[in-house]
Order: sequence, then structure tokens, then C-alpha cells
Amino acid sequence: MRASKIELTPMKRAKRVATGVAVGLLFAAVVAFAPIAEEPTPIAFESGESGAREPAALAAPMDAPHLLFITLDGVRPDEFFDCAFVKDLAKSGCSFPNLFAEVRAKRFEVAGMVVGNTRRRSLPGYQSIYSGKNQDATCRDNDDCAQVPTQTWLEHIRYARGLMPYQVASIASWNKMPIAVEKVPGIITVNAGIVDMMDPRSPDLSVPKELELESRWQGEKMYLPRWENARDDRFTFRYAQWYLTTIKPDVLAVGFLNSDELAHEDDFSGYKKQLRTYDGYIKTYLQDLKDSGLYDNTIVFVTTDHGRGSGFFGYAFQGHGPEWYLDHSAVTWAAISVPPRLGAEWASIRKRYERRLLTQLDIRPIVEELMIPLHPSPPKKPGSIWPSRR
Ligand SMILES: [Zn+2]
Repeated sequence: MRASKIELTPMKRAKRVATGVAVGLLFAAVVAFAPIAEEPTPIAFESGESGAREPAALAAPMDAPHLLFITLDGVRPDEFFDCAFVKDLAKSGCSFPNLFAEVRAKRFEVAGMVVGNTRRRSLPGYQSIYSGKNQDATCRDNDDCAQVPTQTWLEHIRYARGLMPYQVASIASWNKMPIAVEKVPGIITVNAGIVDMMDPRSPDLSVPKELELESRWQGEKMYLPRWENARDDRFTFRYAQWYLTTIKPDVLAVGFLNSDELAHEDDFSGYKKQLRTYDGYIKTYLQDLKDSGLYDNTIVFVTTDHGRGSGFFGYAFQGHGPEWYLDHSAVTWAAISVPPRLGAEWASIRKRYERRLLTQLDIRPIVEELMIPLHPSPPKKPGSIWPSRR
């Protein structure tokens, strides 16, 4: 194991990220997991943490790490990285002020990334994210996808750790998410679309008391996104929060959707406002994890399924851009927080991704190596975003 050297702030690389984003987002995509540096601006953490990483060797032995994996639909790097250049996050109109405060405190790292399929559509995107493979052969568009034909990393983690189905869960606004998160329905716990959140541990799968009232509002017009195949993210947020704090699962994947809907309506300011809301959701989850003592044992990963075209309104922004690979909409991003006690493992993983283009197909090996180091199924070589010729 490598020595616990975890200074992660080479100014040079962070500047390259900044330049990359400013000049053209493809530049950012080739720089993997570089923290944004704008020292010195220490960010005070609640509960007296300095935000500095402790040497991994000092951490007490704990359980296998947990994972909170969050996807925000169709959020392009233009808005994701817009806080990277702002010093006074609280006052600026940037999109993820709280998340980037964590980046400055070195608790999160961010990276540019490209999609893992040639389609730049949501379902192909989620299938590449959860299976670690380009699924173009059986998933070309949202209405044209089979159940993902590869065992997903959610299923794999459940088996490799010998977990109950309720200990690995996917909670998402979109009713199509179930065919991206598991190859065999029922292996993990899935809740998606306009469906009540049940307690998967109870024999009658009852609606948890705390969620009964909200559950009744589901499907009411004022809470529906404008799209019939989804529920409003507010429900997904609350259901996932209940799951995180009550069930305390090993893995929780949360899928939000309103951002893409608002963009499809060509509502840039609504989309931006939604991103601020997501930033608040993430902050709340982090606080919940701190309150329940799980924060220092939880990996948090935030990413998106596809980018968008360029500009602030009209065809490109509203849609996903034209369908050729190097389009603006093929560029995405990732943010990851790895607990300090896994610092050495993380340092050795991230080293492998430092000098090349990061793609959605890298998510699986990264997650599995952190979550099930003795049972990794990752390709040792970088995954290809192009469909296999076999
Ligand atoms: Zn999408």
C-alpha cells in the first residue's frame, strides 16, 4: 500500500482545469479528479472539523465503506463548474456553491468526463454508468431499451458483500430507471416514478409513517413534473433521505430528473434554480450522514447521464445537441468524496486516471475498487465508449 501521502492540490493541475473549462469544456474532460485550488480560503466545517484530511493510518478500523451515488439528469459542465471560479460562493449566482465549498475544503474532487455511449440520451447514459459498458446494441434511445443485459455494479456489490436486497437501493424520479440499475429485477431495492416509498424491511411493505403524508400528494398535479413518466424530485429527495437515515444502506443510488425537464422546456433560469436546489439536497444528505456518524465511512459520488448543447436557450441547450460524438453534449463531469481513511487506496486509484480521458465507463471500476476491493470485476484497460464489435 502506498504511504498516506494525500496532498491533492497541485496548483498546476487545478489551473489546467480552470483553463480547460474556460476555453472549452473538452479540455476539462482530459484532466481527471483535480481539486480546484484557490488557497488560502479555509472553509469551516460544522462539528469542528477542519476539513483537512487525516492520515489514513490514524483512522480507526471501521465497517466496509458505504456509497451514496447521486445522478442529476442532463446537467452540463458549463453550470457544474461555474462555482470553480468564484471566491465568495455564498453571494454568487453559481450553481453548486455548497458542493464547491467542499471541493475547496478538499473533501470533494471534481473532474471532467465524457459519456459512455454514442447516443447522449438518458437511458443509454444510465445503462453505461451502472453496467460499465457501452450498451448501444440494446439501448439506443429512451423508448427503445431492453433491461440492461450486464450485471450492474449495484447487483455485484450486493452479491460480493453478501447483502440483503434492501441494503442496496436505487431511488429515482424517472420511471425508466429500473431497467438501468439491475439486470435481474428484484436483486436490489428499486423505487422509481410515481410509486410510494415502501419500507423494504417490513413484511407488508408498508409506507413508512414519516412519508405517509407526502405519499398521498404523489401524483397530484401541482407536484408533477411536466412529464408523465416521472415524479417531482422533491419526493425522490425525501424518500432517499428517509432511506439514507433510517435503513442506512451500504449503497444508495439517487436519480434526480427535473433539471433535464426544465432544460427541455428551454427554461434556463428554472434549470439554474433547480441546480441550486440539488446543491441544497446534497448539503442536506452530507449533514444527515454527519449527524448519523456515517460521513467518515461514506463515499459520495455525484455525476450526470449526459451533457447538453451549448448556449443558454434554443435548440442546442434545450436538446442534447447533435448526435455526433465530439459534440458539446458528450461532455459531462463527476464529483467524488472519499473518506480520509481510504486516502491511500484512493490515491492509488486516482493515479491511474490522472493522465487520460475519463469516461462514464470508468465509474464502475472506480466504485468497485473502493467498495469491494477483493472482488473487482473491472476491465484493467480503459473501457471503450464505442460498442464492442463482437
Ligand atoms: Zn438525461
